[in-house]
Amino acid sequence: MDEIPGAFFSDYPLLIRLNPVIPFKTRGNAATSFSLRIPEKNVDSLKNLVVSEFLKYLETVRGGGVEPGLAFLYGKVPAKLGKLYRKALTDYVHRDYVTGIINELSELVEAPLGYSRGLVGALAAIGASNSLSECTYEILVYRTRDNYLRERCVDEESVKLMDSEFRDQTFLNYDYVNDKPLITPSGHNPVLLGIRGEDPAILVKALKTLKLCEEFEGWLIYRTNQGLNAHHVERGVEEFRPYQTGCVKGKVIEKPSVRLGGDVLLKLGDLENKSSLWVVFFKETGLGKVARYLVSGDVIRVCGGGKWWEDLGLVIHGDLLEVIELVSEVLKNPTCPLCGHRMKSAGRGKGWKCPACGYKSLTLGKEKVKTDRKIVAGTYRPADSAVKHLVMPQSRVGRKGSCDKQLISEWIYVRRGGRSL
Ligand SMILES: [Zn+2]
Repeated sequence: MDEIPGAFFSDYPLLIRLNPVIPFKTRGNAATSFSLRIPEKNVDSLKNLVVSEFLKYLETVRGGGVEPGLAFLYGKVPAKLGKLYRKALTDYVHRDYVTGIINELSELVEAPLGYSRGLVGALAAIGASNSLSECTYEILVYRTRDNYLRERCVDEESVKLMDSEFRDQTFLNYDYVNDKPLITPSGHNPVLLGIRGEDPAILVKALKTLKLCEEFEGWLIYRTNQGLNAHHVERGVEEFRPYQTGCVKGKVIEKPSVRLGGDVLLKLGDLENKSSLWVVFFKETGLGKVARYLVSGDVIRVCGGGKWWEDLGLVIHGDLLEVIELVSEVLKNPTCPLCGHRMKSAGRGKGWKCPACGYKSLTLGKEKVKTDRKIVAGTYRPADSAVKHLVMPQSRVGRKGSCDKQLISEWIYVRRGGRSL
């Protein structure tokens, strides 16, 4: 902020991920916000600077359905924006809801470029600043502009070494199953890499151990809502709607089916058997390896996002599976008292008939049979390679996500000249 005298960052900028099942979103579904302390007389020049930089940036991302938005807020963050953040994280946000908020807060909020889908994210990211109960941090290293279209050059061995030294305080550095780094994004964008973790000072240390074989522009540490399952709000089976995220507890209704390609689909009913919905665990999450062995009557809790499938209706795309209670007995047809074969129904109200010896019975009832289960109760999380931004990876379970980390001097670094790290 060399250009604006007296302006300084009062805290880390925020990098916020929003509802991943909303159909109209940018890739990664991210929004950022930052708060500045600034002498009142310089506010206008700051706004002009931000708007002109934003418009310059727009030129580079034009097309592809991208619809970025920009918003300013003066003073304290109103509770209404915190509410908007939680809605944009877990639910569908209607345009009227946002314009309503802007009208109500017209003294404080400004949207200099008007309404766009991205404006929802911009306002939500401002609202998040006083609504996060847990936080993680990410250090993002930015590429120089001429490198955007080139392949990223980060030494993979150094990523593994960094992971072995810092994995207790960072997460999702390296995918050892598929043998590839997880810190480098794919595609043509300004980000060279990002290291996620709990402590900004550790992130800088971890970054400095990496061997980067391309020039970079600098780095920035963000406070984030990543890796925390922040989108997991509890919902009932009957109230879950498409485009909402959350967790739902219920009973497996029928034996799960394994679809072509390896995805596992199951029907989940509420505990009173009044309503039901579908759940899918995509193959890459690895959760299907457990889910396929569930049987009718098992009690589970599933978290994820709801989508609408033409053939099935509401389907929760699961990113967590908690197996709460496994049935240990199943009901089977009675065995024949004469020859021991399992009997068949002789038709509705006609009792049972033995297919082997022909014995018939009206009095026998179904038999409870102990069943061997291949799975055990517990919480199952997706494979690291399939963990999406908001989802808590197995390696982060049990960590505290403090939102109170103080700004460290190296939270931002802009390179002058062309030195390598
Ligand atoms: Zn028989």
